[in-house]
Amino acid sequence: MTGTVFDVQRFSIHDGPGIRTTVFLKGCSLRCLWCHNPESQSPRRELMFYKDKCVGCGECARVCEKAFSRPCEARGACVKVCRRGAREITGRDETAESVVSTVLRDRAYYKTSGGGVTLSGGEPLLQPDFAREILELCKAEGLHTAVETAGNVPFAAFEALLPEVDLFLYDIKGIDPETHERNTGARNSLILENAEALMRTGKEVLFRMPYVPGYNDGEAPEVARFVKELGGKLELMAYHRVGAGKYAALGRGYPLSGVTPPSPDEMRSVAGRLGAKYEWSGV
Ligand code: SF4
Ligand code: SF4
Repeated sequence: MTGTVFDVQRFSIHDGPGIRTTVFLKGCSLRCLWCHNPESQSPRRELMFYKDKCVGCGECARVCEKAFSRPCEARGACVKVCRRGAREITGRDETAESVVSTVLRDRAYYKTSGGGVTLSGGEPLLQPDFAREILELCKAEGLHTAVETAGNVPFAAFEALLPEVDLFLYDIKGIDPETHERNTGARNSLILENAEALMRTGKEVLFRMPYVPGYNDGEAPEVARFVKELGGKLELMAYHRVGAGKYAALGRGYPLSGVTPPSPDEMRSVAGRLGAKYEWSGV
């Protein structure tokens, strides 16, 4: 089976235990203002143009009249002729077997570190058949499997994958439905219902909350309470600006340009008060 992937990152250490390979599937049902993978959101192939690398040679415009207009069909003729690496297409169709052959290259590292494979996105549960096939193949090879999800999908998508998943990394971005809609473009009732249903399956779940000053930081205590009532564990993920440059490459403005990432001291203090872990990436 073929699905749409936009990246495969080897040697990941933030997407589950040990050293992992993270496979990023394209397409998401949310539009979080702080998303650091904006190229993950659309299910379609997209052109990314890095203006700072462009020397204005005009080769791309010779092969495509839409080289500098948006949106385009992302056929990629301009990418082939650009010698400066100023253009790339994000999103490719790939078979589950091909993805897994990449994953298996680092099997030795998984073994020594207790790692494995993680499906992320975007929202991997929007391609449940493809996700399931990758996970089945990985399980058949004895790998530990994790799925990172924002939970905004019908619960049937979870049920289809349950036998193949060792760990879910489940994002909770807030409790108040209106704030959630302002921050992500969707209400959160399905996400919260699915969180409860997933906990009832007995699967291992780590809840993760992106902690974004001025947007959802005030909701951290409520999220911690919700997770505690479910009997789950919570990790706060400090907002960072790593993906900011990708918005410009996609021809979009960065929605959070005025936001300062929280300091490690703030994260340590908030997480300590809430009995949560935290992750701070340093930017
Ligand atoms: S081919 Fe590359 S360097 Fe030349 S104008 Fe196009 S984007 Fe710029
Ligand atoms: S759920 Fe994740 S991938 Fe989707 S928009 Fe939000 S941050 Fe981005």
